[in-house]
Amino acid sequence: MTHLTLQAVTKRFHTAYAVDHVDLAVPDGKLVCFLGPSGCGKTTLLRIIAGLETATSGTVAFAGRDLTNVPANQRDFGMVFQSLALFPHMTVAQNIAYPLRLRRVAKNAQAARVTELLELIQLPHMADRPVSRLSGGQRQRVAIARAIASSPKLLLLDEPLSALDAKLREAMQVEIRLLQQRLGITTIMVTHDQREAMTMADEIVVMEKGRIAQIGKPLDIYRNPVSEFVADFIGLGNILPVTFDGTDRIALPGGQQIVVDGAQRARDAAGGVRLLIRPEDVSMRSAMTHSGPNVLSGTVTFIRDVGASLEATIDCAGFTLTAATTPRETPALQVGMPIFAELPPHACKLIAARTAP
Ligand code: ADP
Ligand code: MG
Repeated sequence: MTHLTLQAVTKRFHTAYAVDHVDLAVPDGKLVCFLGPSGCGKTTLLRIIAGLETATSGTVAFAGRDLTNVPANQRDFGMVFQSLALFPHMTVAQNIAYPLRLRRVAKNAQAARVTELLELIQLPHMADRPVSRLSGGQRQRVAIARAIASSPKLLLLDEPLSALDAKLREAMQVEIRLLQQRLGITTIMVTHDQREAMTMADEIVVMEKGRIAQIGKPLDIYRNPVSEFVADFIGLGNILPVTFDGTDRIALPGGQQIVVDGAQRARDAAGGVRLLIRPEDVSMRSAMTHSGPNVLSGTVTFIRDVGASLEATIDCAGFTLTAATTPRETPALQVGMPIFAELPPHACKLIAARTAP
C-alpha cells in the first residue's frame, strides 16, 4: 500500500525553486532516503511533508487523505532534526515522555511507554539522567525514542547522524535501520551521504536542484544510474568522455576503441554520453593473458591500500582509471608497474552527460 503521495509539489522562495514539481509515492513500512548535495531541496521537501512549510503548489496526501489544510501537530508524524532539539535540562525519561504529555496521555501509561522505549533503545538504566550527560550516540537514540513515543504513522529524519563521528555514525545507521524494520514504521530520511543512503534505504530518491534525478533501490541506482550526475553522486566511478557513433563500440579519450553492452540506451542522449565503469569492475592483470578488445595497458600511479580494500590509480594513455580490489587478490601491486586493465563490456555503461548548469 502507498502511504504517502506527493503530486507536483513545488516550493518557490521568491523566484528560486527549492522544490520543483516533485511526484513521489512512499510505500507502507519502507525506509526512503532523500539523497543529494547541499541545497538541492531535501530539507524543504521534508518540511513540506511534515507541515512545517507550505508548498507553493502541489499536494501531499497520506493514506488517501489530502494534508494541505492539516497543521503539523495534527499530522501524527514523528520528526528528528539535525540538531536533535532535545531539552537539555530534562531527563531522558522526561524528553521521551514529552510528546505523550502534550497529548495528555495518562501518567501511568506515559511511564509504561517510556519504560518500553528505554528497552527498545537499550538505555534501560538511563531514565533519570539529564540528556546533557549523555554521549552523542545515546542522545541520538533518545531523540528517536521521543520521535516514535506516540506511535506516529510516519517518521521523518533530517540528517540525524550528521553530528556524529564516522564510526558511531555507521553503527547508528545499522541501529536505526534495524529498529525501523522491527517497528515497520514508514520512514523518510534525508542525507547527503550516499553510503548512509545505501546502508539504510529500501528506496533512494536522488535529488538535483529541487527535482528528482532518479528513484530506485540502492543497488539499481548504483548499477544503472540514469545520468552523469547520479553516477557521480552514488559511489566511486570512472566517468570518461567518449566518442559514440551509435554502435556498440566507443572510442576512449586516448583513441582506443572498446565494446560496450546496451549502447542503445545512450543513443538519444542529446548532450553527449559518458562511459561509466565502477572501480570494482575494472580487473587488473600484470601480464596480457588474452588480448580482448577491452584490455587497456597502463601504469599504476597510486595505491590506496587500507587493509580491507585496495584502490589503484592507473594511468592509461589519455585518461586515468581507478580499479578496486582487495590486498589478498593483488598482493604484488606496486606503484610504477605496467598493468593491463580489462573493462568487461557488460560493466561498461553509457550514460547521459551532465548538462551545463
Ligand atoms: P538541502 O536540505 O538539500 O541542503 P534546502 O531544502 O535546505 O536544501 O534548501 C533548498 C534551497 O532553498 C536552497 O537554495 C536554500 O538556500 C533555499 N531555501 C531554503 N529555505 C529557505 C528560506 N526559508 N528562504 C529562502 N530560501 C530558502
Ligand atoms: Mg538540509
